Amino acid sequence: MEKKTFVTLEKLKEINALYPTPYHLYDEKGIRKNIQSLQQAFSWNPGFREFFAVKAEPNPRILQILSEYGCGCDCSSLTELMLAKAIGCGAGDVMFSSNDTPAEEFRYAHEMGGIINLDDITHIEYLEKAIGCIPKTISCRFNPGGVITMSNGIMDNPGDAKYGMTREQIFEAFRILKEKGAERFGIHAFLASNTISNEYYPKLAGILFSLAVQLQKETGAKIGFINLSGGIGIPYKPEDQANDIFVIGEGVRKAYEEILVPAGMGDVAIYTELGRYMTGPFGCLVTTAIHEKHTHKEYIGVDACACNLMRPAMYGAYHHITVMGKEELPCDHVYDVTGSLCENNDKFAIDRHLPRIDKGDILVIHDTGAHGFSMGYNYNGKLRSAEILLKEDGSFELIRRAETPKDYFATFDFLPIYEKLV
Ligand SMILES: *Cc1c(COP(=O)(O)O)cnc(C)c1O
Repeated sequence: MEKKTFVTLEKLKEINALYPTPYHLYDEKGIRKNIQSLQQAFSWNPGFREFFAVKAEPNPRILQILSEYGCGCDCSSLTELMLAKAIGCGAGDVMFSSNDTPAEEFRYAHEMGGIINLDDITHIEYLEKAIGCIPKTISCRFNPGGVITMSNGIMDNPGDAKYGMTREQIFEAFRILKEKGAERFGIHAFLASNTISNEYYPKLAGILFSLAVQLQKETGAKIGFINLSGGIGIPYKPEDQANDIFVIGEGVRKAYEEILVPAGMGDVAIYTELGRYMTGPFGCLVTTAIHEKHTHKEYIGVDACACNLMRPAMYGAYHHITVMGKEELPCDHVYDVTGSLCENNDKFAIDRHLPRIDKGDILVIHDTGAHGFSMGYNYNGKLRSAEILLKEDGSFELIRRAETPKDYFATFDFLPIYEKLV
């Protein structure tokens, strides 16, 4: 897919005059259009609902935009639950798909009316102790083990993943939960990440729908929803083929009509917990080239670092880079584009063919709208950047200010000393 920026150089210069680089910029128009497509693709299912994976982009402004379309929040920690509450999520609006969960987080989730999605059979007892009951609505996470394959080979390896219950365990869990008073059941599985294939969701749906039919038949538990979770990917690389959400929606519908409807389960709601697909392409990291270095390789040093975007350093992930204003120039230079961490893996690109970069050039690092800012950290005393929303009318809004050294000092007892340092 051709990689284009959603923002012009002119607009970036306007923003930079107010807010210095680096910052993450989000495309409101793109986010709105995308959620509408998702909902259209699943409109055949009356109960369909997306619970946005908050960890992908935990900014209340972005959560608010999605909630305008009826999205709930998928949370996995106390502060994510608090974010959901802060934007007005009430009973039934939160899916708590956590793992290795502390008791206080179960309590908080339950008190705000979140749907608890149990990662393990032992969590039934743990939850009951934590909140004093078993909720009427409850979900269990399934892990079939083995590997998941598509027509083009192995896609991921659930057998190696820490999440979810085995097949025997989920049957046992449903029996126990039913006995303890649960009335409306859900099942959930997340078997492959960042899938660039229209096959993943329909395949997962087939697995979960068959399981649901057997679970309902054998345990008598009434299945209210099936949660296909996250995992729909985005085309990070120019050669990647974008998913077609309408093909995916139709694929899931086919499985629904073949498996659930004949079993008399045509009232089951489909839930999703997409993160990357919802915001990934609609965010970018804007950074300025501040140094060039010619040694054993050619280096361009930028003012962002892996603390602003960890994926390249952590996974070797590809993020496309556009040198703004030089889109039409030949990519006849080969650069490592680096940040300033004292870590040699702090490179946004290695041996990347790009047009000649001059100091002061603005670089746009694409597809940072999910698992970008949110994976940020403070190594080397680096501070988290601002987040800015590019609105539909072309204006822009600061939706999170950049951290300052004072923020960094705020968790010590050294603030009085800090005052003398500045
Ligand atoms: C990370 C995660 C998601 C979102 O995954 P994406 O790949 O961003 O779609 C959804 N559900 C759970 C439980 C997750 O851990």
